[in-house]
Amino acid sequence: MAGSGMSIDPARVAENVAALRELIANHATRPVEIVAVTKRFGPEAVHAALDAGIVAVGENYAQELVAKAEAVAATGAEPEWHFVGHVQRNKVRQLAPWVRLWHSVDSLRLATEIAKRAPGAAVLVQANMTGVETQSGLPPSEVAATVHAMRGLDLDVRGLMMIGAEGDLDESRRQFAALRAMADDLGLVECSMGMSGDLEVALEEGATIVRVGTMLFGPRPTA
Ligand SMILES: *Cc1c(COP(=O)(O)O)cnc(C)c1O
Repeated sequence: MAGSGMSIDPARVAENVAALRELIANHATRPVEIVAVTKRFGPEAVHAALDAGIVAVGENYAQELVAKAEAVAATGAEPEWHFVGHVQRNKVRQLAPWVRLWHSVDSLRLATEIAKRAPGAAVLVQANMTGVETQSGLPPSEVAATVHAMRGLDLDVRGLMMIGAEGDLDESRRQFAALRAMADDLGLVECSMGMSGDLEVALEEGATIVRVGTMLFGPRPTA
């Protein structure tokens, strides 16, 4: 492997997972599942996470997920793959055999495609709580109607997902709390919120799923 800063040290990953579990124990208000986000790392990151007791692994590009999932499956290991990135409709078919939870469903059209290719699939609805236009996700005002409509499809609508604002943790706290309140109003258990930079705040505001990359694996390779 090239640059040692980018290689995966399984012992270090195990330490980082232990530290993350401790952080969850200290800050969470509900039971929390960890999704180890392995994007841009090789299959060795997936194996290190599994060895540390992680079950769910997240990716945000379709091709990368499929390639890594095939490589990992060839070794006999069986992580639960989560898709955390923006989903293009024309990628749903190739993802469907692998993905156990779709985190970022942000339109009824996409939901319909997932229901067609993966009947009964577990999904989260992504809300854009920051108002940043380059972020995907439904405007908060459209979330309830979309959830209701999705309940009419052959899907298991489990909760909501958001990506926090960069930098401002007070602002993020308000947005996490707002997402949690929306989920509760809709009778949804899961809130996928909190990444390496805003974990404590997301946990304190009721996250049930955290998506963590750099805290577990270190800085991502850029290429
Ligand atoms: C990359 C990514 C993460 C993990 O980010 P870190 O800051 O490395 O923890 C979480 N969620 C999504 C949607 C991502 O794309």
